Amino acid sequence: MTFESVIGLEVHAQLKTRTKIFCGCSTAFGAPPNQHTCPVCLGMPGVLPVLNRQVVEYTLRMALATHCEIAPFSRFARKNYFYPDLPKGYQISQYELPISRNGHVDITLDGTTRRIGINRIHMEEDAGKLNHDPDRPVSLVDFNRTGVPLIEIVSEPDLRSPEEAGAYLRKLRAILRYLDICDGNMEEGSFRCDANVSIRPQGSTELGTRTELKNLNSFRFVEKALHYEISRQKELTADGGQVIQETRLWDADRNRSTSMRGKEEAHDYRYFPDPDLLPLSIDEAWVSRVRSELPELPDEKRDRYREAFGLSDYDADMLTGSREVAEYFEACLGHFMAPKAAANWIMGELMGLLKAGGMTIDQSPVSPQHLAQLLKLLDEGVISGKIAKTVFEETARTGTPPATIIEAQGLVQVSDSAAIETVVAQVLDDFPDEVAAYRGGKTKLIGFFVGQVMKATQGKANPKLANQILRKQLDA
Ligand SMILES: [Zn+2]
Repeated sequence: MTFESVIGLEVHAQLKTRTKIFCGCSTAFGAPPNQHTCPVCLGMPGVLPVLNRQVVEYTLRMALATHCEIAPFSRFARKNYFYPDLPKGYQISQYELPISRNGHVDITLDGTTRRIGINRIHMEEDAGKLNHDPDRPVSLVDFNRTGVPLIEIVSEPDLRSPEEAGAYLRKLRAILRYLDICDGNMEEGSFRCDANVSIRPQGSTELGTRTELKNLNSFRFVEKALHYEISRQKELTADGGQVIQETRLWDADRNRSTSMRGKEEAHDYRYFPDPDLLPLSIDEAWVSRVRSELPELPDEKRDRYREAFGLSDYDADMLTGSREVAEYFEACLGHFMAPKAAANWIMGELMGLLKAGGMTIDQSPVSPQHLAQLLKLLDEGVISGKIAKTVFEETARTGTPPATIIEAQGLVQVSDSAAIETVVAQVLDDFPDEVAAYRGGKTKLIGFFVGQVMKATQGKANPKLANQILRKQLDA
């Protein structure tokens, strides 16, 4: 029997507001422990939370960008549990009446596009953080993160492979970053993911018993952990065993998941509406205003690149997958309009350079303006493609504009026929055997001759012209 895997993801994204969701404390990351706290986020008795309007605004952006329905009336609820990083003894979240439901995002994998349903997006507050002392049997609690605003994005169980889960997460993160509401940093915990995984016989529509995977704090771990869990469930089932409903923790060091708690220990959170917070009413005017202010999102941008610039699906996808890359590309076009050349250079030379240096595109040593200048000189035939690569490397190393390097080093391409004819004559003199072979039918040797001409001119000969002149003299 063949099985298919069924995956649903719960993503927590930290919103980039200046202050927390229910008090005025700062959300800045990296402060000394317990500096960003007040009686409200410390859960003192008698204090009252006040909802941060910006949190609602940002949540609306994400909900509308993912085609969710907005509830005109939603409510905050208390999720009750005890843990030392939760001073109130409950987390304020949304439960039976979330702010938005029934959305979707489209993911593209190997040229196939699939629509992944979003069950709901709701707002909630983050808990604090426990720091376990490695030397003493003590844990210290830091409440700076308590009350930092989160949105939880719950997918439908529509994902069928770890790779689809990865594509879905990358798409969500790209949208959040295009909307400028979350920095998407998995390592710092501002974009976190839990996964529900089950398997079922191919063709079945019923859901199998699922396990929940926690602690997936990088894109690579998500896919690895899902592969591991799917194989584990398949092997268990093949051996006549049964998957039990449980929460499992991914151990990245040992490349396996271990059981954390079973169903019998599953929490009953005793949700109830928070009496300290009024229900949230959102009128049509607010929704329309946020909708009208949405920026161009990855899918729209990809379609526009394809149609307006004639880029391939792959190129358009790669350039729009990250907001910063798209911005770099557009800045480059602002200086010189050559979309295909810019796309090729950004995805080839520039990405290679950034990867080798462990840099992001924001840290690129070659500015969009300099790349545009290089592309223009290449387009005008001032330099050859080969020289362009050398100049690009030098600009990257020194920050000098390409035009300055070309002028200072005399790298201007030789497009003077008489000069190239002289070099061609010399090359044909130097390689009589190859000339004879060429004339005897081995016409593929043209590449060899062009190479020799380029070598003799230190790469400065116009290769097209060199090719023409060589053919003329060889075929004569
Ligand atoms: Zn506070």
